[in-house]
Amino acid sequence: MQERRYSICPFCGLGCGFYLATVNGEVTGVDYAMDHPFNEGALCSKGNTSFEVIQRHDRLFEPMMRVENDFKAVSWEDALATIASRLKEIKEEHGAQSIGIFASAKATNEENYLVQKFARKVLETGNVDNGMRLCHAPSMLAFTESFGLPYPTGLLEDLEYADCILIIGCNPFENAPVLARRILRARETGAKIIVADPRRTRTSWHSDFYLPIYPGTDIQLIKAFIQTILQSKLERKEFLRERVENLDGLERLAVDSSPEIVSSRVGIEAEYIRKVALTFALADRASIVFGNGLTQHVNGTEAVGWLVNLALITGNVGRRGTGVFPLLDQCNMMGASDMGALPEFQPGYAQAEHKGLTLIEMVEAAHSEKMKAIFIIGINPIGSFPDTSFVKEALTKLDLLIVQDIFMTETAKLADFVLPTACWAETEGTFTSTGRRLQKLSRAVEPPGAALEGWRIIAKLADQLGKGEIFRYDSWEEIFKEIVTNVRNYEGLTIDDVSRIGGVITPKDRGQLYEDKFETKNGRAKWQRTTHATNIERESLPFTLISGKILHHHGTGSMTRKIGFAMQETGEPFLEISEEDLGALGIRSGDEVYVRSGLGEIRVKTKVARIKPKVVFLPFHFPDSSPNNLIPNNLDQASKTPELKGIPVSISKAK
Ligand code: SF4
Repeated sequence: MQERRYSICPFCGLGCGFYLATVNGEVTGVDYAMDHPFNEGALCSKGNTSFEVIQRHDRLFEPMMRVENDFKAVSWEDALATIASRLKEIKEEHGAQSIGIFASAKATNEENYLVQKFARKVLETGNVDNGMRLCHAPSMLAFTESFGLPYPTGLLEDLEYADCILIIGCNPFENAPVLARRILRARETGAKIIVADPRRTRTSWHSDFYLPIYPGTDIQLIKAFIQTILQSKLERKEFLRERVENLDGLERLAVDSSPEIVSSRVGIEAEYIRKVALTFALADRASIVFGNGLTQHVNGTEAVGWLVNLALITGNVGRRGTGVFPLLDQCNMMGASDMGALPEFQPGYAQAEHKGLTLIEMVEAAHSEKMKAIFIIGINPIGSFPDTSFVKEALTKLDLLIVQDIFMTETAKLADFVLPTACWAETEGTFTSTGRRLQKLSRAVEPPGAALEGWRIIAKLADQLGKGEIFRYDSWEEIFKEIVTNVRNYEGLTIDDVSRIGGVITPKDRGQLYEDKFETKNGRAKWQRTTHATNIERESLPFTLISGKILHHHGTGSMTRKIGFAMQETGEPFLEISEEDLGALGIRSGDEVYVRSGLGEIRVKTKVARIKPKVVFLPFHFPDSSPNNLIPNNLDQASKTPELKGIPVSISKAK
């Protein structure tokens, strides 16, 4: 029997909708949802091929327990009973704070809501966090401080109404390609596109102004924009006077951040910086789109704060075609955070009573043997956290490591228990997109073997730990109803709302936030002036490494390395390097090199690219040559997000 079930892309955070086509319970392909209000039927290569991940022969089919150096299949009853008894022992002996949970930005809201409830009400630990920490915790914190909510300020689809778009620290034409359609529409109607990135990417090809800045100089660039705007008296005085506070000292910016002062550091001519700043300031409706290139630095929160300031000083918040938009990396990163799978926030961003540890802090605590048990759900720290050897050592020291996933990831191989879970196409529940679109997933096919829906695993484990009475759910709808009574901004949403194609915008029907007032206590936005200490000792090495994503792959590659098309297009890693640097090293594009930092070395093929000299780029989708092997564990002190960009390395020809 042929059927089609509505689904949502499991990769980036844009929330593109489509149908999964099935024949007799087997997934056969995708069909396009032309009436979807965001993606209008369009999908990038990842969305188009996502169905290949579902019915793979190498999915996890049954729970497994480590026996010496191997795994043995066990029943769910045995696995959960043993895990529960070991968690109880650890809690009694070492206390609740010796246990932590990594929640999944790829799992549904319903699963994440139960995960944080399980952490707080069953284990009684504050140590719960999700993948938001690795990339956009700076955005969440800076937005909340300035605007009162952690969300992008408008609708992503309204980018096409902008007169000017600043794209900084991201490459949407490769990493969020469906959004690129909206940017192109804006450009077709005359919008000016500004791209700041050390690499010449597909996004930069479509720019009117390209700023090849040095990695980590975003703050200087944005401050120079603001200085130019102040010097030219183009700040929106009325907007600042009526809607913004904390503006003391604004005039000092006009003195110490001129384009001339920052030019050599940023790597752009002062006059060009000034020209671009004036283009942005003179636009009636300007938007800012940014990504990990800006946030994954030791001053990531401060950098987002300056982007917020740029939007405020030009009055570009609260109107269609204006706003500030972080591009989140995973399909339900926004939702996992809204559900309170965070150490500092409970559901709906209510302050946690006792702040727990973040992802990287939990790994550090495991390494120092303070953390004794970690339950990792749908996240692959061996591929995504800095200093891979340190992470491996830390996880190996744990008394109990539980990994719940759909494949045997590099992290799962280290576990004491591996729990097989349903993927996005085998469960029901909701995802919340980067653009605040809350949508329902349909179950297209049954989970493989004994794999269970994630929320059912959590509820069963809670039952084993004696808290079954607060985890009695028969369906995802029952959890959803609890969510809409407990999560700020989800109030009043119904199953009908989320079940429509494209779902519903949260807060309900408020596409444009902050039209009249901000969500802060006094309704005014806060100008950000915090400077976070960045006293990091860095090695002095000749190249600067930036890591990132490429067109057909996603995350640590645990799913896209299983997709034929992705591997056919890019089946192996490469180091992007400028022609000038290849010449200086005496090698040709395609030759192999060693890339070394103080932590270690990797061997990888080179690929000539239009990238700033002395800057190299390495994708992080391939574990054997993951840049994280080379990246030390330096954190943004405000958000505890790791610095994954701008790492000093040396490069030499491989023998
Ligand atoms: S743009 Fe993002 S959400 Fe849309 S199809 Fe591609 S990976 Fe999926």
